[in-house]
Amino acid sequence: MKLSQYPEAGKFGTFGGRYVPEILHPALEELENAYEEYKEDRDFEEELRTYNRDYGGRPSPLYYAERLTEVAGGAKIYLKREDLIHGGAHKFNNVMGQALLAKKIGKERLICETGAGQHGVATSLAGAVLDLKTEVYMGKVDVERQKPNVFRMELLGATVNVVDSGSATLKDAINEALRDWSGNVSNTHYLIGSVVGPHPYPMIVRDFQRVIGDEIKNQLKKKEGELPDHLVACVGGGSNAMGTFYPFADDKTVDLTGVEAGGNDEGNAASLSEGTEGVLHGARSYLLQDDGGQITETHSISAGLDYPGVGPEHALYKEVDRANYVQASDEEALIGFRRLAETEGIIPALEPAHAIHAGMDIASTMKPEETLVITLSGRGDKDLDTVRERLS
Ligand SMILES: *Cc1c(COP(=O)(O)O)cnc(C)c1O
Repeated sequence: MKLSQYPEAGKFGTFGGRYVPEILHPALEELENAYEEYKEDRDFEEELRTYNRDYGGRPSPLYYAERLTEVAGGAKIYLKREDLIHGGAHKFNNVMGQALLAKKIGKERLICETGAGQHGVATSLAGAVLDLKTEVYMGKVDVERQKPNVFRMELLGATVNVVDSGSATLKDAINEALRDWSGNVSNTHYLIGSVVGPHPYPMIVRDFQRVIGDEIKNQLKKKEGELPDHLVACVGGGSNAMGTFYPFADDKTVDLTGVEAGGNDEGNAASLSEGTEGVLHGARSYLLQDDGGQITETHSISAGLDYPGVGPEHALYKEVDRANYVQASDEEALIGFRRLAETEGIIPALEPAHAIHAGMDIASTMKPEETLVITLSGRGDKDLDTVRERLS
């Protein structure tokens, strides 16, 4: 079976699946059926394309980073500029797709969870433009750490529900969102933010994010006349990386590298390269857990990569050796961040700064006539305080 044909029966090989309480099965089946219907619907496709283009700014440019290439010394480095998309990151592609789907199937309300707030802000803007009532679940600890994003969500008309249970962070917010959903399935869509969660979410989110890789394929063909030799993207839950990789899944000459958060001495968030198999948030994949199956503390300088699990499709790509997964540490991400700012005049988010560092390393081992594309998943405005503190 070709890799592009997964999932099969809701699974990516032995990964993925639908490990959720019985009460959520009807909702997931309804979503799966609706998605299968609308994915073939020309009007839906056209409407989403229009939002992506006129509201979101797609296609994002594929930029030849000549100075970064010179500094790395090797393959030609191209940047896929998701930082220029509305909202400042690739998250837009998924929230717009899911919110439009929710509207089509008659839902009036969006709910989501958010940790650092980026996914909450993205969902809120989609809720505003599509006139869907939006409620965001966010742990109390995160609400206090991320005040500007809480304010953004409120400005966009969303309600932020503060979660006080457990450790009052992301995983508790997910539990509350699931509880809400199980009681309000008839009028509510749960908008998951990455290629994680129970089937059909990893598939749906991948399909809405594949626009990244599809555009890269067309754009590089025009510029170089051929496929890229290597694609590099950062991996948190894995959506910008899967969106980049998926259209090339069966193009065996294209190497794929996912870059996880290597963190520091205190910890990391490298589920694929350091974790073990298990079930988290409804799917089987790689996780950071202890011998008893308890999720362990993760650490990353970038909030978007700081997640103890990873999408099941990446677990499959690792298992069959289709993609290589490496780490960049907090320090290395800061180096990547500064390199891109100084050579290209682009301030990246800290998440893709990990990919910049790893991508430059890989490019330096390649020939000058080869090409390497790094997905620049978002812009760095949100990270300026973090970087300023670390550099002083
Ligand atoms: C959220 C986020 C990520 C991590 O999410 P993935 O699902 O792994 O793509 C990466 N980069 C940016 C800019 C983000 O906002």
